Amino acid sequence: MSKQVVEEGMHAIALGTAGGPVWWGRDDIDAGISTAIVVDGKVYLVDFGYGAGRQLRRAGHRFGDVEALFITHMHSDHTVDLASLFLFARNEIGDRQVKILGPGNRGKLPPLTPLAKEVPTPVNPESPVPGITETLDRLVRTYSADINDRIFDYGSPSPATKFDIKDIALPAGLPFDPNENVAPEMEPFVIFRDERVSVSAILVDHHPTAPAYAFRFDSRYGSIVVSGDTGYCQNLITISQDCDVLFHEAINLEVVGQQALNTYPDPEVRESVMSHHRRSHTTALDAGRIASMANVGTLVLHHLVPANAPLESWQEAAKEYDGRLIIAHDLDTISLKTSDESIPTS
Ligand SMILES: [Zn+2]
Ligand SMILES: [Zn+2]
Repeated sequence: MSKQVVEEGMHAIALGTAGGPVWWGRDDIDAGISTAIVVDGKVYLVDFGYGAGRQLRRAGHRFGDVEALFITHMHSDHTVDLASLFLFARNEIGDRQVKILGPGNRGKLPPLTPLAKEVPTPVNPESPVPGITETLDRLVRTYSADINDRIFDYGSPSPATKFDIKDIALPAGLPFDPNENVAPEMEPFVIFRDERVSVSAILVDHHPTAPAYAFRFDSRYGSIVVSGDTGYCQNLITISQDCDVLFHEAINLEVVGQQALNTYPDPEVRESVMSHHRRSHTTALDAGRIASMANVGTLVLHHLVPANAPLESWQEAAKEYDGRLIIAHDLDTISLKTSDESIPTS
């Protein structure tokens, strides 16, 4: 099951490719969204959805190989395996800290749907929209019985000591507003740098989720961009300019619409859900358009919604993009090279 780890160069591993808060549990669709960028054998993770820790192991890596983890936005399908990461990875990490960077506090609740008959009470009203730092602090507290057992019984340190967690600070002066202007046009800004890689971020349009980021990884070998969840967005074109590989999310609105007939029998609610999907996600066709406009070397579609849509439907991207197009499967490895031999797939 596990793979040979490549020690030199830069490549990406699609650890999980399914989008949305769903347990798929099929042989071919078995993990939520998570992507590993590997540079000279060191791992940089983007998002940590359902099964990400297990997928990292299946890809031939241990958590000891991980240098940093970047969270695009606070949706659960991108963060749910952080609980197992905090509780299971401490021995693999050893005497060092793994960096985690992600969105800060949203600042205010999202706008209320016009369908609401009354103003609802939010969950955790004293701090209803926390960012990554506060969320992970709460996670540690949630598991305090387990963690304190280990601290007091055999001196195992709290997982909080193993991670250096930071909210991403937006550049000053941006006209960003979590309700009115989630992705003002801007330039990418550097959020992380070490001897192997420089990571920059840009705001994307995943309304009402905010802030939501795309990330770009530049190394001496080339560049890989991960879109995060977003509607069609100029900032995505900006951050992807001339990159070697763009991982872009994709939604099949037709199949989602058919499935919504069962899930949301009320037509008003259904329309409001579909309007979110139309605005806050990107079709394969538009992902192809973005890849063309940004002059991307390889377009990889992942975060497929729904993950069980017909495979050929994602090929729509090729109508707008004539570069190398890959529809990602769990555990696919995508190298920066352009020859087909460089794509060992599982
Ligand atoms: Zn998502
Ligand atoms: Zn999302």
